[in-house]
Amino acid sequence: MTCDPSVLSIDDRRIGAFADFLRQSETADPFDFCSRSEGFIYPERGGEGVLEMFFFACAHQFGFWTLHGDRWRAPMVARLDGRDLKGSDFLWRACTRALQADPAAFQPAALARQPDAGLDALFHDDAGNNPLPMWPEHLDLIRGYARWFADQASSPAGVLRRVQTAPRPLNALLETLAAIPGYAEDPLQKKAMLLAIVLENRPEHFLAVADPGSAVPIIDYHLQRSVLRTGLVRVAPSALRRKLETRRRVEPAEEEAVRAAAYEAIARLMARSGLSAAAVDWFFFQNRTRCPESIEPDCPACPVQAVCARETRLFQPVFRTTAY
Ligand code: SF4
Repeated sequence: MTCDPSVLSIDDRRIGAFADFLRQSETADPFDFCSRSEGFIYPERGGEGVLEMFFFACAHQFGFWTLHGDRWRAPMVARLDGRDLKGSDFLWRACTRALQADPAAFQPAALARQPDAGLDALFHDDAGNNPLPMWPEHLDLIRGYARWFADQASSPAGVLRRVQTAPRPLNALLETLAAIPGYAEDPLQKKAMLLAIVLENRPEHFLAVADPGSAVPIIDYHLQRSVLRTGLVRVAPSALRRKLETRRRVEPAEEEAVRAAAYEAIARLMARSGLSAAAVDWFFFQNRTRCPESIEPDCPACPVQAVCARETRLFQPVFRTTAY
């Protein structure tokens, strides 16, 4: 669905201002998915099974929030190994813990051998519960993922070897992931591109990208909230705006329109700033804590306050999906 310009529009002047800011910002370097919390949130560098863990875990980066009726209620937070972790960090930690216990845990054949209860236990918190709000969807995707690798007689290492010899390795990786359950469902390939930047930027540098132009924007709910609040995407007074302000569930076509506008805005920002998808993603990922979901953001302390529209009432589309 394309944006209805009377409701959603992209603000090119503001994209230019953000591009200038990001070019000069030290916070726009890519993240290595290791050093911030090596051995706890993320696995130690160079360990056995790290590649397979990230192939698996990136496919499960979705749905970390709860609903109450038709309204967004709260982010998922659960205690794991003595620390209260928000959804994405919880999932990384649960996978790192499983890898530390068994380096073969995320081989597709090992996943296929696990009964449902064993897969559920991978994500148990300190109280012995699996807190993932969309566990049935995760379980379906795990089963489909393991079946795909069995049918293809392949493995994450095999996929990586093959794409690395292609003339355009990043493009080849995205094309391959477009067929694998867990990645295949999203036409905008958010989780696939997340895996690509992990493989490129981890200390092991699993993927050597010869074709940075194949990169696509990584559009999750934090990023949609950011583009709406910063004014990179403007929302006119409308039924959609009321839903975004009151955090009420939106229709599929409304979510598709907001996400498509966010995708286009971030694509233009990448082009104007000259920064990689990874650098832009890391900047906005950090912005999720500066401009949070649950408390009023502290705009005067925010590094982008001079170029931001400060639309703090706006919220990401409330929409259940396995894409993000
Ligand atoms: S905290 Fe305020 S200034 Fe910073 S991105 Fe959010 S709305 Fe903009």
